[in-house]
Amino acid sequence: MQVPIKEVVSIFKRNIERDKLRNTPSRITILKAAYSHKGHFNAETIYNTVKGDAQSVSLATVYNTLELLQKYGLVRTHKFSNQHTEYEATLGYAQHDHMICLDCEKVVEFCDPRIQMIRETMGELLEFEVEKHALNLYGHCRKASCEKAL
Ligand SMILES: [Zn+2]
Ligand SMILES: [Zn+2]
Repeated sequence: MQVPIKEVVSIFKRNIERDKLRNTPSRITILKAAYSHKGHFNAETIYNTVKGDAQSVSLATVYNTLELLQKYGLVRTHKFSNQHTEYEATLGYAQHDHMICLDCEKVVEFCDPRIQMIRETMGELLEFEVEKHALNLYGHCRKASCEKAL
């Protein structure tokens, strides 16, 4: 399932119009960079991708645009280790959760439909409208590929 970038841009534009914010070209550039990036990324990654562009984009602009994207549900954020916030695109990407190796900090994505069932069942039981969830499993890779495995 892939959502065309034009669609993502128009959702973003509708949101900023509603919030009466300016639609600047740099915001669109940052949005496109976020959606062309596969998997997880941080603000610096996006900054390095877009800084060569015609309009000069500052790291601060990248940060506050990513914040807007999060507010509009176009990206979600993670704090996997004690490092900086990581982001990932949401539209057109399957719902998934994460497993994080405490040794090499590798992040593995997994998808289990039972988690969706928990959201629905518990929401119903406790009369709660579940909007989002965060599930991170921490541990140690058992694979030989773990760079820090003992
Ligand atoms: Zn992910
Ligand atoms: Zn590992």
